[in-house]
Amino acid sequence: MDLPSTIAIDGPAASGKSTLGALLAKALGYLYFDTGVMYRAVTLAALQNDVDIFDEAAIGQLAEQVRIDVGPASIDDGRDYDVMLDGQDVTWLIRKDTVNDHVSDISIYARVRKAMTEQQRRIAKENKVVMVGRDIGTVVVPDADLKIYLDASVEVRAERRYQEMLERGEPADYEAVLRSLKNRDHIDSSREIAPLKPAEDAIVIQADCLGIQQVLEKAKELVYRV
Ligand code: C5P
Repeated sequence: MDLPSTIAIDGPAASGKSTLGALLAKALGYLYFDTGVMYRAVTLAALQNDVDIFDEAAIGQLAEQVRIDVGPASIDDGRDYDVMLDGQDVTWLIRKDTVNDHVSDISIYARVRKAMTEQQRRIAKENKVVMVGRDIGTVVVPDADLKIYLDASVEVRAERRYQEMLERGEPADYEAVLRSLKNRDHIDSSREIAPLKPAEDAIVIQADCLGIQQVLEKAKELVYRV
């Protein structure tokens, strides 16, 4: 039986798609590629270099210039992979609040999306991959063998993100997390280029009442059914 060699997982922020992607890739022995890190790395580069987030031309140029490398985890600190930005280890820096607050703003820009999409397509071509993002099934690899759209209500996603922050001992405010997710959902879903939406042939998993192991089991059933 031929298993799907390209698996696309899309869905809104904090739906659990990164966790699912990592577990599924591990189970199958595939490369796991979380495309959100690329948009996050460009955002961080802009913040570090004082490039105005709303200067589309400057951000576009930056996205074409920066070198983003994603590789196997080199440090045992809870990370699934290393993210390098022009040689700097930014694996944790790209998760900070200022990046969360601006990443959807730069993800709107056509030049940014083109630069990121080209790199993602190359990676998908060269590897058996579980690729996670917003537009993987619709735009990046529309011919993926299996497309999953992982969804959950914004309240459930905010609660999970809030609990994760508490567990890590970070200061957490549920209302602020909820506001930030709603804002990101709105920008990601309403943008003109590659908006967040399920591909027509995606299989939607609604995860409000499912734990990650149940979601993983469902995804595995789909992999072995294709
Ligand atoms: O998945 P994650 O939350 O890390 O993604 C961060 C942001 O990057 C998203 O809110 C979205 O604006 C952007 N993104 C995107 N297309 C992708 C992956 C992420 O526009 N394929």
